[in-house]
Amino acid sequence: VLPNSLHARDIAYQIHPYTNMRRHERNGPIVIERGSGIHVYDDQGREYIEGLAGLWSVAVGFGESRLVEAAARQMAKLPYYHTFTHKSNEPSIELAEKLATMTPDGLDHVFFTNSGSEANDTVVKLAWYYNNALGRPEKKKFIARNGGYHGITIASGSLTGLQVNQRGFDLPLPFVKHVTCPHHYRFAEAGESEEAFADRLAAELEATILAEGPETVAAFIGEPLMGAGGVLVPPRTYWEKVQAVCRRHDVLVVADEVINGFGRLGTLFACEHFGIQPDMLVVSKQITSSYQPLAAVVVSDAIYQAIADQSERLGTFGHGFTASGHPVATAVGLENLAIIEERGLVANAAKVGAHLQARLRAFADHPLVGEVRGVGLIAAVELVADKASKAKFDPPGKVGFRFFEKAHEHGLIIRAIQDSIAFCPPLIITEAQVDEMIDRFARTLEDIQAWIAAGMPA
Ligand code: PLP
Repeated sequence: VLPNSLHARDIAYQIHPYTNMRRHERNGPIVIERGSGIHVYDDQGREYIEGLAGLWSVAVGFGESRLVEAAARQMAKLPYYHTFTHKSNEPSIELAEKLATMTPDGLDHVFFTNSGSEANDTVVKLAWYYNNALGRPEKKKFIARNGGYHGITIASGSLTGLQVNQRGFDLPLPFVKHVTCPHHYRFAEAGESEEAFADRLAAELEATILAEGPETVAAFIGEPLMGAGGVLVPPRTYWEKVQAVCRRHDVLVVADEVINGFGRLGTLFACEHFGIQPDMLVVSKQITSSYQPLAAVVVSDAIYQAIADQSERLGTFGHGFTASGHPVATAVGLENLAIIEERGLVANAAKVGAHLQARLRAFADHPLVGEVRGVGLIAAVELVADKASKAKFDPPGKVGFRFFEKAHEHGLIIRAIQDSIAFCPPLIITEAQVDEMIDRFARTLEDIQAWIAAGMPA
């Protein structure tokens, strides 16, 4: 690391999220300088396929000039305004209308935030405020799943069901209860079918609601297809079963589509794919292709009407962010959604996604591969120490991290979630580009196999 280089200054001054800081001090960053389509380039001139679309988010690819121009136009006209106390701005109104129109029936009112974490905090507050409005202030608990990811703020980090986000932070707060992760490969009992597994999890949810007292449970939250927990696809009937349990006990259903939304699974929303009719839908990431920070909670009319009545009684709905409904972010969101529609990127995700899934499933017989899973343009390949027993590597994550680093040498950026290799490329990817991505993956896998055979030297 050269003195005064970007690398040295990064080490000296920047604290990185999700980073082993001492390791970072030793190895320094990969500084990404620019991007074009599905590719990004670092400051050493190396090219990578962005197999995770940044953080599951750059739907339209890098270097999309229409988004740059939409931002510049809005910056010139009105770079900022807020939406507090009856103020509004045109792009936020248009995007709210657009979201109400495109999301599942019955979701008609939009609250904007900057991030998915803030959106999920907003969900918690909306559910609490709603139950206060209905005169049942004790109905406040949330049920989430182990392995779920909903963000890292104190409330959303409590909904998250991953150790890494809770260890060391005194989370979760006690209003959240976690139930079993709907991942059949890891959590089904011996010989249990997908259907029986889904029945068992629905029964577990119902038992949890009854044990807590239905009068204390506000909502159930889940990602239709879990992303950051490992790209975990629930059994086909899981959602319809848990939804029926929630309805029986007047528990709101919240679909967190921060990763799934806007075409990732080959349907506009994953709710369509799994038959979910949520009371609240959370979106972010692909809403702007992450060219601007933006998230939104889209809520049912019933919730909206109750909180509107309550806010009249209390005088104000005391929640919101300086950048809620930011005109530049929402203008970029509108243009981005227009691109997704005009270029048929949802259909592309279905078509090219089928190709990606087929190409990856060809690795199912590989001795290191325990499971290949995914829907549309999101997938994971789980590497295991022993295929027959599904035993994990010891320690879990060591092989995945090595894979993650090796993949860089082959010009590929993926996410390693413990030892699962996750793919979530931009929605613009072509079949030929998927083939190139898979070739780079296969070359990395060969290296990893040789490294494991050599006893995993440091
Ligand atoms: N919900 C889901 C499903 C996510 O995947 C994420 C981020 O990856 C979040 C919420 C949190 O979003 P943010 O990182 O913008 O706070």
